[in-house]
Amino acid sequence: MTFDELGLTPEVLKAVAETGYTTPTPIQAEAIPHVLAGRDVLGLAQTGTGKTASFTLPMIDKLSRGRARARMPRSLILEPTRELAAQVAENFEKYGKYHKLSMALLIGGVSFGDQEKKLDRGVDVLIATPGRLLDHCGRGKVLLTGVQILVIDEADRMLDMGFIPDIEEICKKIPFTRQTLFFSATMPPEIHRLTETFLHNPARVEVSRTSSTSATIKQVLVKTTRDGKRDLLQKIIEDENVKNAIIFCNRKRDVSTLERALSKSGLSAGAIHGDLDQATRTRTLEGFRNGTIRLLVASDVAARGLDIPDVSHVFNYDVPSHAEDYVHRIGRTGRAGKTGTAYTLATREDGKYLSAIEGLIGNPIPGPDSAVPQPAPEVPGETAAAEQPAEPDSDTATAEPAGEKRSRGRRGGRGRKDKDAAAKAETATADADAIAEPVKSEEAPAPEVRAQERETQAQEHNRREPNRHSDEKPARRERGGRGRGRDDDDGPRVVGLGDHVPAFMLRAVKLPKKSSKDSDDEMESETEEA
Ligand code: AMP
Repeated sequence: MTFDELGLTPEVLKAVAETGYTTPTPIQAEAIPHVLAGRDVLGLAQTGTGKTASFTLPMIDKLSRGRARARMPRSLILEPTRELAAQVAENFEKYGKYHKLSMALLIGGVSFGDQEKKLDRGVDVLIATPGRLLDHCGRGKVLLTGVQILVIDEADRMLDMGFIPDIEEICKKIPFTRQTLFFSATMPPEIHRLTETFLHNPARVEVSRTSSTSATIKQVLVKTTRDGKRDLLQKIIEDENVKNAIIFCNRKRDVSTLERALSKSGLSAGAIHGDLDQATRTRTLEGFRNGTIRLLVASDVAARGLDIPDVSHVFNYDVPSHAEDYVHRIGRTGRAGKTGTAYTLATREDGKYLSAIEGLIGNPIPGPDSAVPQPAPEVPGETAAAEQPAEPDSDTATAEPAGEKRSRGRRGGRGRKDKDAAAKAETATADADAIAEPVKSEEAPAPEVRAQERETQAQEHNRREPNRHSDEKPARRERGGRGRGRDDDDGPRVVGLGDHVPAFMLRAVKLPKKSSKDSDDEMESETEEA
């Protein structure tokens, strides 16, 4: 199949050809004709499958007819994080270069003023994270009654981040006659419920990885000590042919410290973590993408879901304390059929995290001498889930393969819900892959409109954790009652330590006797990444 056969206009085809793409990915081949035909689409696909172009290309064509009115965007794309929203905006710029569509990006960390000016002039495409969009709606700066095409991307990640009440509120403001394109990597019950509510007779397109396009990643485990880590890292960078690398630390403070140390040694390094302002994050990412920054020191939160196609190395400067983060991290290299190398620097204290990782990926991580390229790890069950066509009411994350049980046992002590872990592991693995193929296309049931008021942050936590993946309805709350002093699109809202207990807190350490107040203070200062 070629792009020419999909019904796209010559302008879009020309832009696609200029990016060098010759063949549509499976989700593009499946979804684009449905979108052009005006149908709702339910896409079960993850990042790396080419799903962004599967909705941006036909949207550009559809929006080329008609004009935008002030403050009334004609289409809306909701993304869970700022970085993903920015990536989609880049796609629009790239593929829409022969159209005169106007676009606005509403994300946290960017001043309201510029965004409002754009909205005032009228935009064809509005790309937003839910919290920032609702802020603009609340200020009367944007009206969603003109939205004809709504895209909800990464719905399961929205769920993880507590954005579902926001999504429901936003959908209430959009005419029911819209076309809705809904994408999610997994289909837990809450997400399935949303698809029934928001979608009208959707074409269902499901893609999974094929083994032929899996990345090959050489994994290497290097034993070291806490004090020896930095020198070891620099030595590997010097000895190996490291074109560029993402170096993951478990804590934000270590990201900054390491970045400074590397820069001081004359290496070209940048840092990215959730505490940095958006302009800095964007600049750093851009520098890494265009090669002016060679080493990107990163936290998991900031690097999640990023699509940087050509990364030669990943370093786990710290062994991740959640096994699925390992899979997610190393999947930043070896993308799109290229090979890559992932080094993990482990100390004696990391033993139990390593066993959890090796249990999850199903094999030991080889040492430096025995390291050979091997297929990117798959979370057992992902393939199985993909091979079994999901029923409209099925949950791909609920399959219970042996490997999942193994990893679940290790995480059970932290009180995670099983399905949550399975879904997260599945999503994480997905990021390690490239192109996918369709396994199913079918109808889903007709909708009924339903929406809920938003919850307060604390209620949100109560709702999500104890009743996660249950059918119980969330507690109600007044939207106006919630202060929006912070940007919501910068990682999950977390109460206490949330899911992400920092590594140091999971390590057995001998502490001198202290008063309980001192201990509390110390804990607070160390939980930045949580
Ligand atoms: P996405 O899943 O949208 O994040 O896309 C993953 C990667 O695949 C991005 O780097 C895209 O630029 C790339 N890509 C998208 N469509 C194609 C295609 N038809 N052929 C080759 N690469 C593609």
